[in-house]
Amino acid sequence: MQNQIRLNINNDEVLENQYYINEIRRTNDDFFLSFNEKKKFHIITYGCQMNEHDSEKLTAMLKNMGYEETDSYETADIIIFNTCAVRENAELRVYGNLGHIKHIKKTKKDLILAVSGCMMQQPHIVEEIKKKYKYVDLVFGTHNVHNFPKLLSSVYEEKKQIIEVWNSEGRILEGMPYERKLGLKAYVNIMYGCNNFCTYCIVPYTRGRERSREKENIIDEVNKLVQDGVKEITLLGQNVNSYGTTFEELYDFADLLEDVSKIDGIERIRFMTSHPKDLSDKLIYIIKDNPKVCEYVHLPIQSGSNAILKSMNRKYTREDYLEIVRKLKENIPNVSLSTDIIIGFPGETEEDVDATIELIEEVGYDSAFTFIYSKREGTPAARFEQHIPNDVQHKRFEKMLSVLNKTVIARNKTRMGEVYEVLVEDRAKKDTDFLIGRSRENYLITFKGSNDLIGKLVDVKITNPKNFSMEGEIINTPVL
Ligand code: SF4
Repeated sequence: MQNQIRLNINNDEVLENQYYINEIRRTNDDFFLSFNEKKKFHIITYGCQMNEHDSEKLTAMLKNMGYEETDSYETADIIIFNTCAVRENAELRVYGNLGHIKHIKKTKKDLILAVSGCMMQQPHIVEEIKKKYKYVDLVFGTHNVHNFPKLLSSVYEEKKQIIEVWNSEGRILEGMPYERKLGLKAYVNIMYGCNNFCTYCIVPYTRGRERSREKENIIDEVNKLVQDGVKEITLLGQNVNSYGTTFEELYDFADLLEDVSKIDGIERIRFMTSHPKDLSDKLIYIIKDNPKVCEYVHLPIQSGSNAILKSMNRKYTREDYLEIVRKLKENIPNVSLSTDIIIGFPGETEEDVDATIELIEEVGYDSAFTFIYSKREGTPAARFEQHIPNDVQHKRFEKMLSVLNKTVIARNKTRMGEVYEVLVEDRAKKDTDFLIGRSRENYLITFKGSNDLIGKLVDVKITNPKNFSMEGEIINTPVL
């Protein structure tokens, strides 16, 4: 299902870009009349949901300009790399892919190559592009995605490399069209940027300071998604727990959850990410009492060692974190917890890793995103002493991962015979009898059933808990 969403606030920048959209569209319509085919674009997105969302906006703008999407470099007339700066690996892949496109550009002179996203918010990377990748036509950042039509028009007119990266975020721009591939589930940004400055993280420098969207715009967007068949919403922000702190009126994330839950047709609400230092009791009670808010919390710990947490500037201790976990479990007995863990941070000792491992066992996570520390230029931690050698990082990581996996698997095995409400998403695989979906707790569950159950909520009894997913059988069949 695809949908165009247009929110209801207009301003000069939206109008200016609409002008360029119309201008380019006219040229592309002429191209279509002459050659009976549309010009094509291909976007490659790296990194997080924020980037995915920016790519949705670029897709909508390009379609409004008369281009059509293609999934190959070779057939594209415009290629955009929407980059991520959080890990070194993703950066290296971008450079590798730019090298590949150089060969395509040699034979396809009109091909436009653009690079956008978090990597471009770092001046040393833009310098590198200027020096070594002169064949890149357009460079823009996270703060001026909405200006893409104007920038693209400049590329066509000036026929030289255009670089425009804003170094500050400005206000939140509502009203640009964007296109999304909708299913039963959708992500909705409720805020942008971050004020926390964890010492390893590049996000506050690439995505700017924290700005919350007005609740009316969020509710408006969710309403439109529901009309298009969405049943589960995930509210997104770098730290949803500080939503609304800049508003004049007292209105926080828990209030927003309440308001979103009043929308008819929304069956489930999830959110991510929650910084532990800002998780309030009020939020715990909303998860406990509001039947639409799922019993799943992603609560990044990063490290179980107080020394490392301090060095990371996380602003909570291991004890603070465990107290939040205690409150969550006391109030919401079936709460499912996931986390982020970084191993190999500068200055880390074997004891620090052991402290993390002990915490993993104590909390009993249901899943986790685990990372080996990667040095990011421009962050304070990059300048720290005592960087951990690569082989030591990997050894410690394996040690942590084996305990984490054992914990997750052991928890899964205890679920034999339990019954979970599952939102049926799709066939588990092509040509199989099995359907797949997630429980309120975010557990991945497969079971036999017919296609007409897709989109429905069903109760499934677990008959075969596997390592990282579970198999079960339906114990009720909804009226279809
Ligand atoms: S909370 Fe920390 S890790 Fe998360 S985005 Fe902000 S600075 Fe980065």
